[in-house]
Amino acid sequence: MIIKKRKFTGGYTFKNFKGEPSDELVKPEIPERVIIPLKQGFGDEVNAAVKKGDSVTAGQIIGINDESISSPVHSTVNGTVEDIKKAEYFGRLINTVVIKSDVTPDFKPHEAGTSSWKNLPEEKLEEVLYMAGVTSLGRSGIPTRYKSSAILPGEVEHIIIDGVQSDIYNLSLTLLLAGKGLNQFIEGIDILKAIMPRASVHIAVNKYQKSIIKKIDESADNRKINIYPLDPKYPQGYDEVIIPTILGREFPFGFNAFNMGIIVLDIQAVLHVYEAVVLKKPLIERLIALAGPGFTENFHIKVRIGTQIDYIVKNRVKPDTSLRYILNSPLWGNTVTDLSLPVDRTVNCISCLVEDRDGEAFSFARPGISKDSYSKTFAANYFPFKKTINTNTHGEERACIFCNYCQDVCPSGLVPHLLYHYVERDMVDDILLRYRIFNCIDCNLCGYVCPSKINPAMYIKQGREKLTGMGINPKESVLRRFKLKGVKENKQVNSEYYNGDKS
Ligand code: SF4
Ligand code: SF4
Repeated sequence: MIIKKRKFTGGYTFKNFKGEPSDELVKPEIPERVIIPLKQGFGDEVNAAVKKGDSVTAGQIIGINDESISSPVHSTVNGTVEDIKKAEYFGRLINTVVIKSDVTPDFKPHEAGTSSWKNLPEEKLEEVLYMAGVTSLGRSGIPTRYKSSAILPGEVEHIIIDGVQSDIYNLSLTLLLAGKGLNQFIEGIDILKAIMPRASVHIAVNKYQKSIIKKIDESADNRKINIYPLDPKYPQGYDEVIIPTILGREFPFGFNAFNMGIIVLDIQAVLHVYEAVVLKKPLIERLIALAGPGFTENFHIKVRIGTQIDYIVKNRVKPDTSLRYILNSPLWGNTVTDLSLPVDRTVNCISCLVEDRDGEAFSFARPGISKDSYSKTFAANYFPFKKTINTNTHGEERACIFCNYCQDVCPSGLVPHLLYHYVERDMVDDILLRYRIFNCIDCNLCGYVCPSKINPAMYIKQGREKLTGMGINPKESVLRRFKLKGVKENKQVNSEYYNGDKS
């Protein structure tokens, strides 16, 4: 059933940017070495189940911890364990397994998987998903009775699947659902429904993808699936935005979707569910987009998890150009300073932008045929020119001009410039709770639209950290207002939220 007219206040639609990935799919060679973090996606770090010198096969479990909330991690290549060592992975010191690969492409199928999954008891189906590692996907994970989430499958009331494409660069829905992809996606939903029978299924799709919406609607047949064509306004894909948009329910800021009995997954995650069960394929590779004007060509590529970034981008970027790499979105992703780091299960995109650190005085007086601007200052907003995002979109930092653009776009209804002024002047006390500083979801849109190049989100994060350091904990008031599930079971995941870590 197609349900229309759902939207949220604020947000911004990114249109027509250079560097958007084409629908072309390139399959790279198997890398000679992978570095596999033992914490990937939702849940805790797992314990290494292999040691240096062991031979491993692609698809073999190399990390598992049945005692904590987590999902197993697999070798993604055939080869030999070279080392197990701690490494810094985007602010976290975690164990990694380094594997020298023999570059053969085959993988060890997951024995319990079957195309006749409908004959499997629920427990067995949950085990297949858990052992395949796909239960770590999404910001809330996929619940099973194997401690892959803080709640049990029977507690899930809603499954929301996000195909809204509200980021600057997005995975191609056409590519994901091409060929057998659409049927596999629908069967993936059937599998999720089989383990979470109480849950209603909601699919949010970019409203401009009319033919895809029609095809999903036809394929959904007589299943009770709600399809929502939504404006691809950023940050529609955030749990805090998509849940209120679709279900009309207030989000308990500081907690997770699973605390509301909701799981939010993207389309690729649902396809991984299908692959794990029907194709017996553990989570060993991802489809990612190579996006941004720093690449010589923009397309999609299937990579083994653990592949180092320099292996993926080699010979694919503009020569003699200073570049900035970001894992995932230029707005919320992690800037990469060490290209030897690997991609993990959470990566959908490598964004490559051209560095531009020069100030640009009076940039508003230039025609700006490739510039994006919330205020529609530049010609690119009125003509079909492709826009460019670089690392210096608004020129030099200037004083706040109280234009309110940051307030207009804030999806959480905050006044970012007010919070910025308080924190910048070191006036951090509980008055900031009245301005709901803890409801910031770190989408960074306020900084993107700011014509003065101020980054209110950075100051807001500093303010939250100072308040937390002062012992101010807004969670208690949230807990009084909401009846939440799985709160005690996953203290760590909940506490990571306020530190801005929402991976
Ligand atoms: S912080 Fe930036 S966007 Fe917000 S009011 Fe000030 S100048 Fe405008
Ligand atoms: S204040 Fe927070 S939620 Fe609002 S736009 Fe800025 S980063 Fe996003």
